[in-house]
Amino acid sequence: MTTLRIIEPVPRVPPLTDPVVLPRGSVEPAATARHRAALPPRHLADLDLAGRRALGVSLGEPAMRATQLSHHYFGRLVRDPAVMTDIPLAARERLVDGMMPALLTAVRELECDDGATRKSLWRLHDGSLVESVLMAYPDRVTACVSSQAGCGMACPFCATGQAGLTRNLSTAEIVDQVVWLAGVATRGLGPELPARLSHVVFMGMGEPLANYARVVEAVRRLIAPPPEGLGLSRRHVTISTVGLVPAMRRLAEEDLATTLALSLHAPDDDLRDELVPVNQRWKVAEVLDAAFDYAARTGRRISVEYAMIKNVNDQPWRADLLGRLLAGRLAHVNLIPLNPTPGSRWDASPKPVEREFVRRLRSAGVPTTVRDTRGREIDGACGQLAASTEGR
Ligand code: SAH
Repeated sequence: MTTLRIIEPVPRVPPLTDPVVLPRGSVEPAATARHRAALPPRHLADLDLAGRRALGVSLGEPAMRATQLSHHYFGRLVRDPAVMTDIPLAARERLVDGMMPALLTAVRELECDDGATRKSLWRLHDGSLVESVLMAYPDRVTACVSSQAGCGMACPFCATGQAGLTRNLSTAEIVDQVVWLAGVATRGLGPELPARLSHVVFMGMGEPLANYARVVEAVRRLIAPPPEGLGLSRRHVTISTVGLVPAMRRLAEEDLATTLALSLHAPDDDLRDELVPVNQRWKVAEVLDAAFDYAARTGRRISVEYAMIKNVNDQPWRADLLGRLLAGRLAHVNLIPLNPTPGSRWDASPKPVEREFVRRLRSAGVPTTVRDTRGREIDGACGQLAASTEGR
């Protein structure tokens, strides 16, 4: 059953902001305004431990206090100064004021699947809205987080893509989504479900590789052990991209070795040019090449995302072509039943068509799964985040 708990009225989204990193070429949406956004206040999650210790000293506290504060935030998932009793009261306030400003204000929280799926809508300091989703399964708890407010990639089937980009999130705005959700997970999501966040996917709003430096820094925080970071397994962090080739290649050079998901959605340039407009800049062959190189370098199988859109990309010949492109590669396909966006001319593929697509891929030797459609009732499914609140 879906429960809707409104914490406060949803504000309107303010005008667009911030200069953004967009790929070259014709994919930049005309509507993107280019005013500079006020940066969010500095937060300890923006910095590594050494940076926090230096900041603590500049606030007049011994460096160890910043380490203690980091233990509270990353280790204990605590942000209330009242419970940080190992730090003297005056220091606590100074440190929390200077290093742990509130970045995300919960505007709405929705849940379905008996509490196993929860969506949070956050308001950022400048009024921008972003969302995160927490999904609990018997063997894992996954946080789906946003890397940008809005998105500039303009994929026509994606609700976020329709509104354009508002701005990049800061490192701490990304990390803080995860830390909040990790805290929710520890309070229990349901019987037989783990009470510990284990996985993070960058599949919320935004194109993570268009906010490269902050996303990479956020991943560093997520995988560093406490008190430096949250201590997640790097294999359990997935960065999903439309296929910004130079950024994919750069990511392969980092020492991160996180899982990479590539939103392919079509095996041929004609169709992909339309479904994923950035394909006009980097073609299917180029993007797959970068993905295979990523897999070879990291030893991590890449995940090829493919939204099944009725009579658009679900033909048997496209399954066969995709199978030929991926056979023998370190890759698997994750089919996503299209979640139609409001007013969309597209629909999800019928189940028999989907089954035939899976059959053909598997018979080409390509491991294939169909993603579950968690969170649909609460607009928490792919590409739906925050879109349904805008303009309300
Ligand atoms: N910008 C990144 C991450 C965001 S979305 C990317 O494109 O990979 C995560 C996944 O959901 C992407 O594969 C995206 O193409 C897919 N998606 C977006 N809208 C969808 C929709 N309406 N139905 C199904 N999948 C969708």
